[in-house]
Amino acid sequence: MADRKIEQIREIVSGIAEPDEIAEVDRVVGEAKGRILMESKRGFWAGKTPCWEMVRCPEAIKNDCPASKGHSVACWEIAGTYCKLPSGHDTSICEVCRVYKRWGDGEVIAIKLDTTGTTGSAAAETRTKAASAKAKGGK
Ligand code: SF4
Repeated sequence: MADRKIEQIREIVSGIAEPDEIAEVDRVVGEAKGRILMESKRGFWAGKTPCWEMVRCPEAIKNDCPASKGHSVACWEIAGTYCKLPSGHDTSICEVCRVYKRWGDGEVIAIKLDTTGTTGSAAAETRTKAASAKAKGGK
């Protein structure tokens, strides 16, 4: 398939004689590269409506949640997402969640990536606790 596409592009480009036409081809190729690069950074969510859009996560939470970090696993497979508070491991909410229902294909939910303690809800909780302890003059 790819070979045939390349052959078709070679044929089209070989018929181009004007510099502005080559510039246009360059622009189109650049757009495609950008789209592919963006999709590759979306990890599991490439080509899908991501959880943070489906559940309308506030920007601050989305930016701190491991589900938006381009991992290759789904949000329900990540320990440490905000939805799984307080432990970060509670997947029972995922079983009834429309995100899992939309993209989970009924697969059994199992944690494949544990980010608790580094990013996401559990880490945010840890940081909050540390900050308030510090505010009270403790370590
Ligand atoms: S509840 Fe689970 S499936 Fe739903 S958005 Fe949160 S992590 Fe994803």
